[in-house]
Amino acid sequence: MTFKDLGLSPALLQAITQKGYQTPTPIQKQAIPLLLQGHDLLGCAQTGTGKTAAFAIPIIQQLLNDKSRDTRNKKIKALIVTPTRELAIQIKDNFVAYGKETDIRSAVIFGGVKQGKQTATLKQGVDILIATPGRLLDLISQGFITLKHLEYFVLDEADQMLDMGFIHDIKKIIQLIPEKRQSLFFSATMPKSILDLSKRILGQPKKITIKPEQTTAEKVTQQLYYVSKADKPKLLEHLVVENENAKHILVFSRTKHGADKIVRKLKKVNIGAEAIHGNKSQNQRQRALNSFKEGKTKVLVATDIAARGIDVSGLDLVINYDLPNVPETYVHRIGRTGRADASGIAVSFCDIEERPYLRSIQKLIGQSISVVSNHLFVDQRKEEDIKQDAPSQKKKKTPGRRGNKNVWNRRRPQNKAKKKSNSQNRH
Ligand code: AMP
Repeated sequence: MTFKDLGLSPALLQAITQKGYQTPTPIQKQAIPLLLQGHDLLGCAQTGTGKTAAFAIPIIQQLLNDKSRDTRNKKIKALIVTPTRELAIQIKDNFVAYGKETDIRSAVIFGGVKQGKQTATLKQGVDILIATPGRLLDLISQGFITLKHLEYFVLDEADQMLDMGFIHDIKKIIQLIPEKRQSLFFSATMPKSILDLSKRILGQPKKITIKPEQTTAEKVTQQLYYVSKADKPKLLEHLVVENENAKHILVFSRTKHGADKIVRKLKKVNIGAEAIHGNKSQNQRQRALNSFKEGKTKVLVATDIAARGIDVSGLDLVINYDLPNVPETYVHRIGRTGRADASGIAVSFCDIEERPYLRSIQKLIGQSISVVSNHLFVDQRKEEDIKQDAPSQKKKKTPGRRGNKNVWNRRRPQNKAKKKSNSQNRH
């Protein structure tokens, strides 16, 4: 199937060609025809699957089909609500790209910045609004936005919305939109809480599930480095220097504090690096992301929530500096490389204490990650050795008091660090 078979207008086809897309991705093949027929949609899919075009293209097409649309006095006809500023901007960029040969106007609003520019754009009239929940409700309450003409409503990344505590905002938004509308609901996971929420929004939806877990894991080259926590900075530096041709390297840290520490160490050895995480302001995050995209910063160090939805084409290398304690997160992370039709490389560092995480990840992806065994910082320790150092062994006569003390000295800081990292785990 090609995009031409989907019955799209020449203006849309031209924009799609300019984007360089040859064939629709699986979610696009399934969703576009259903949405053009006017169905509601429940999509289990995450970023990286081509999800944005799957809803943006049919929304634009339907707006173009609507001959009663007032092109001069524009009303908000489509609303896309998404959890983060990064995603909102990315979706807006997509709408602008697909709609560039049309008169459809899109705008994006999000919190954390002054509202002046956003309200000025809204005053000029827009057809499609992409918004984060808080700023949307704020501007509605100030009278800058009315949703009474809305015909298309998209709730994107619903599971992340709930994780981030947006449930009440979403319920308020649903109250404010017309009942007669086409609704689309996307989530990477579908636990009961999400399905319950979807029922409040959707009529009789068509359902689509795209399983990126396997597909992503299959097309990305994955490598595993056993390395002690203490040697991770040196190994990272070594890999960054070794991959001198790589323009974009995304490094994942489990904690915000850890991300800052990695950046400091890289900067010390003159490697351009910046961090994005929940403690950085929206502007700092966007600046860091832009200079990474433009190739000015070689290494971007991110925590999981901050990185979700990052879409940088040509991402050469993803490095899991820490393994995530939730196995699905590993798949999300490595999906940052190998997007759509491209393939990529994902490297994971694994300290002995992270072995249980590694086992859960390998179980989820149904494969063993191939081990790089000849690098400079190989961690020779075996898990059994570490287990023998556990407190129950303390009474053993050998290696003697002094020996035991050393063992404790070695383990205590790690335990402490672990506790700390657990409490910092989100964002
Ligand atoms: P998304 O899941 O919407 O974040 O899209 C992931 C990436 O795939 C983005 O960089 C899109 O530009 C790209 N993409 C979307 N659709 C296609 C397609 N049909 N062919 C190639 N790349 C695509």
